[in-house]
Amino acid sequence: MDEKKKDIDYEFMAVWQAFYRRHNANFFDVFFYDREKLTNEDIKRVIQKVSDFFQLPVPVVQDKCETIAKVMTCEDASECELYYNWQMMTRAGVNNKDSLTLVIVHEMSHQFLYHTRFMLFDNEMWIQELAADMLVGGFSILGGDVGTGKYKYALETLPASLTHPEGKLRAKIVEYGRKYAWDLITIHHYHDVKDLLKGLPAFVYGHYSELQESWEKVSIEDVAETPFAFGENVDVEALPNNTYGTRLLEDYIKRIKEKQNENNGQ
Ligand SMILES: [Zn+2]
Repeated sequence: MDEKKKDIDYEFMAVWQAFYRRHNANFFDVFFYDREKLTNEDIKRVIQKVSDFFQLPVPVVQDKCETIAKVMTCEDASECELYYNWQMMTRAGVNNKDSLTLVIVHEMSHQFLYHTRFMLFDNEMWIQELAADMLVGGFSILGGDVGTGKYKYALETLPASLTHPEGKLRAKIVEYGRKYAWDLITIHHYHDVKDLLKGLPAFVYGHYSELQESWEKVSIEDVAETPFAFGENVDVEALPNNTYGTRLLEDYIKRIKEKQNENNGQ
């Protein structure tokens, strides 16, 4: 075999291996392989592509952010603001175009779902997050075979919080979203992006006890760590509902009061 032929084979092998590991969420594949340097122009193009997918106007973009990425959704979608921090992303394992794309898909999903309430669980915010990650899975199929490994890896490191369910469950719904999208296409039932979410209730009910246990733990742990910071006379009933239409703040203060009563031995 001459030298040239050998080089071509290696090149082909490298492409083939990258193709086969693109959905792997392990440390080595995430941090040692398939990293890419992206320019601001590349990032702009990704945001354009994702906006087109959702048929949303391109958001106002800020490349400074204290977290990996966040979105300020708005009634008027043209005023939606998208923030990202590329350095923080690469440290978390989001270090190439595919994984960046999926982060943007997740954030833009929140604008896409601005008027949608699922009402499947006590904490609507958690379901909104799962819906966004289900759309990430769907996009990875419909947006042209986008690798999910690095995105899932970054998720899997995140614990549950008041606003987000456990990262491991979020990574699971990415996979579920991929399978669901694939099934929809196969049986010719895909018409638009919202179709991708028809399978969301099945996932939520299939993981209901897991969600409930996790939520119970998170809300109690959070209360236990928070010193009582509200006056005695908070009118709980008069508190505003939060952004996603849950009674989170109200429930939270009720829990604090219960906890305080317990501590006082009542
Ligand atoms: Zn989110």
